[in-house]
Amino acid sequence: MTAVAVIGAGVGGLAAAARLAAAGHSVTIYERADTVGGKLARYSRDGFTFDTGPSLFTLPQVFEELFADVGANLHDHLDLVRLDPIVRHHFPDGTALDSCADPAEFAGRIGTAFGPAAAADWSRLWSRAERVWHASWRDVLRNPFDGPADLAKLAWHVRDLAAIAPGRTLRGLGREYLRDARLRMLLDRYATYAGADPRRAPAALVAVPYAELAFGGWYLRGGLGRLADALLTLCLDLGVVVETGATVTRIEATGGRVQAIRVRGARGTAHRVPVSTVVANVDALTLYRDLLPSPRRLAALTDRSLAGFVLLLGVRGESGLAHHTVFFPRDYDAEFDAVFGDPGRGVPARPPADPTVFVTVANDPSVRPDGHEAWFVLVNAPRHGLAADAVDWRRPGLADAYADRILDLLAARGADVRDRLVFREVRTPADLAASAHAPGGAIYGTANHALLRPANRGPVHGLHLVGGSAHPGGGLPMVALSARIAAAQINKTR
Ligand SMILES: Cc1cc2nc3c(=O)[nH]c(=O)nc-3n(C[C@H](O)[C@H](O)[C@H](O)COP(=O)(O)OP(=O)(O)OC[C@H]3O[C@@H](n4cnc5c(N)ncnc54)[C@H](O)[C@@H]3O)c2cc1C
Repeated sequence: MTAVAVIGAGVGGLAAAARLAAAGHSVTIYERADTVGGKLARYSRDGFTFDTGPSLFTLPQVFEELFADVGANLHDHLDLVRLDPIVRHHFPDGTALDSCADPAEFAGRIGTAFGPAAAADWSRLWSRAERVWHASWRDVLRNPFDGPADLAKLAWHVRDLAAIAPGRTLRGLGREYLRDARLRMLLDRYATYAGADPRRAPAALVAVPYAELAFGGWYLRGGLGRLADALLTLCLDLGVVVETGATVTRIEATGGRVQAIRVRGARGTAHRVPVSTVVANVDALTLYRDLLPSPRRLAALTDRSLAGFVLLLGVRGESGLAHHTVFFPRDYDAEFDAVFGDPGRGVPARPPADPTVFVTVANDPSVRPDGHEAWFVLVNAPRHGLAADAVDWRRPGLADAYADRILDLLAARGADVRDRLVFREVRTPADLAASAHAPGGAIYGTANHALLRPANRGPVHGLHLVGGSAHPGGGLPMVALSARIAAAQINKTR
């Protein structure tokens, strides 16, 4: 039995801990916050409960497999609710389109909303997306990528390299297949699921809409935060020790091997824990800058994901909104120009004046008082920081003024709640940076402008990376897959 230290109790850390404990290792999780879940967090006030992070659960089979692999059943722990529509999209010309997880039905809806040519275009793109998905699932998402050797192997194995089209952008793919500007907008949006700009994101991200629209978009009754509860229960049942309020300040390595970690407790007490296997669920930037300084690996981490500006609204009355609604802006490119800036040309990042607004309203009595709704409102935002490609979200007055702006935009797009607010709470990227220790409040760690993210195997023996900033990427199912990969690596080398 190997002793394993897991740094961080995000979904990746919890999933890795459960897998390793089930395989017979003695596992301790060190989490700096008081609660587990990381970005998968909740906030309650006055009878309202909000998910402050994820609101869409996809690829349930990934979690079904995780639970089954450790001797449990996902459905004993969580009540999955299939969404239709998955998202209601409102376009600037006043048209609307409901997405769903039935390809023929969705093509029909596209035909009704935008005409038969648009539906035919989408069906052609769908065939391409299906090839990319199957190649990614088979060769990429469940396999480790530890360096150029793996990349070379991939080049031999991926039969659908032509479909994946390395070097091609998602925007370029949309232009090739979709004549309707609204469908191109819909496709572009999936780049943001990886924290990226569609003009730079790889075309392979077409696998993201495939995953959502082939396997469904789901809600977890009681809120997505229930997933963190379920994973914690799994871990505790499997004998994992979970220390909250415990910040890891250093990973010690000599002779190319992990030797110990340094832990600071809530009261400032510090101790050294000798351990030879470490799973880091912290952002790769934190890992290679602070915990195990590694200039070469750090240098590769310049490309950060976008962040999010969130409003949590207690709302009186009922709006009739779908579970998820997207209100697109007139000029989508202006939003990406603002979020990422172009520091090379002296253009700083800034809060977009007219962003896409994403609203989640769960029809779930357990998350709001009778006759009320709990609104989660999310817009893409630049990261928090003082550099030119970030915004100082702590600047006095900025967050409140921007929250006013978003509420005005919602009103202009037909969802006016300004007179029905019981309260409003604002969560800026600076708040996410503080609460989940996410550098700059970046939602997905490293932006997926490159095909591959930092490897799951660290630069020293015994160090493994899981979580949204490592391969295969951000989002709940990807993070759970990173745990599957890392656990397999550890089990193999034990
Ligand atoms: C606003 C928002 C909306 C999102 N929407 C969706 C969605 O709809 N669907 C979806 O699938 N995904 C969504 N995501 C992404 C998803 O939440 C993340 O990809 C996923 O939760 C990240 O998990 P992780 O394993 O990387 O850990 P994280 O959540 O990043 O957690 C890392 C943990 O490590 C801890 N930690 C950090 N440093 C230390 C240290 N030194 N010592 C000890 N502990 C430390 C942190 O406190 C934290 O608990 C969203 C995220 C956000 C913020």
